[in-house]
Amino acid sequence: MQKKALVTGGAGFLGSHLCERLLNEGYEVICLDNFFTGQKRNIAHLLGNPYFEVVRHDVTFPYYAEVDEIYNLACPASPVHYQFDPVQTTKTSVHGAINMLGLAKRTKARIMQASTSEVYGDPEVHPQVEGYWGRVNPIGIRSCYDEGKRCAETLFFDYYRQHHVDIKVVRIFNTYGPRMHPSDGRVVSNFIVQALKGENLTIFGEGQQTRSFCYVDDLIEGFVRLMKSREGFPGPVNIGNPGEFTMLELAEKIIKLTGSRSKLVFHPLPQDDPRQRKPDISLAQSELGWNPTIDLEEGLSRTIEYFRQVGLE
Ligand code: NAD
Ligand code: UDP
Repeated sequence: MQKKALVTGGAGFLGSHLCERLLNEGYEVICLDNFFTGQKRNIAHLLGNPYFEVVRHDVTFPYYAEVDEIYNLACPASPVHYQFDPVQTTKTSVHGAINMLGLAKRTKARIMQASTSEVYGDPEVHPQVEGYWGRVNPIGIRSCYDEGKRCAETLFFDYYRQHHVDIKVVRIFNTYGPRMHPSDGRVVSNFIVQALKGENLTIFGEGQQTRSFCYVDDLIEGFVRLMKSREGFPGPVNIGNPGEFTMLELAEKIIKLTGSRSKLVFHPLPQDDPRQRKPDISLAQSELGWNPTIDLEEGLSRTIEYFRQVGLE
């Protein structure tokens, strides 16, 4: 029988790629989104598919449907957007998790939580392994996101132990690609948009902080493999590309690939900005047989092409 999947945050950057992948695999898909950072154009090409349904709904309120699998992605991911209404951000992670876990409990659906490398905070362990508990400021400007996601993980594992809900938790490291919003605010889209417009690239701090960037198609492959993984493997599991780059290196690559004449301009480093980040992906390799396949230059070229095609406003 055709499986029914619910994707919360389905009109967002990652959610729209996931909806598309699930439809291609023969699923019936409900895309639930409140369109805070999601865009209709991300899913416009799916609207003609009779097995695709869009529901405007906020996950902080209960939602009822009969589904086999739930992918809980609803939550703004860019610091600019999650700091815009921090109380709503925490509610989205915490109330959203409670509502979706309740739905999974009732329908006996398997449920995956889109967690984040931010649960490791500004890490002292490098690269980050799943067993590391993290170093997170509970009262800073990033806390609504970091602590909200940490609490969501707690809820997932308590529903797993207490109610035997079939959970999967993925810790996503910085992911980029087509369908990021041009004004999303994250570093890859900022730099590409600035380079294409011939504006200065905004480096926060001295640009020596590092991140590891995963191309979206690789990440979605990891999601699908995790959802299909053996019973009794709840995770958490890191999914990310272990290539590690400073923000200066990223800026230089983007200037080179776009052929832009943009220069760099330095802004103050935001509070609690993690200094380094790189996933240890041994668990994803051994449990899911997963490895990233698209390197940074290739992924950036595809993303630049996307922004060239859609325009920058
Ligand atoms: P995004 O902002 O493009 O997508 C988030 C989606 O959730 C948007 O469509 C938004 O409208 C929707 N949303 C927000 N609040 C909602 C609410 N209360 N009810 C219903 N819908 C709501 O971001 P993304 O990069 O696609 O991130 C998707 C998920 O993956 C998020 O949970 C994010 O925390 C997680 N994640 C992403 C990354 C990354 O690098 N892209 C890294 C770590 C974790
Ligand atoms: N950053 C930057 N310029 C920008 C946007 C971000 O130098 O225009 C830096 C930011 O300070 C951080 C890194 O890039 O060190 C990644 O930022 P992003 O918001 O993409 O993700 P996160 O900090 O959540 O990993």
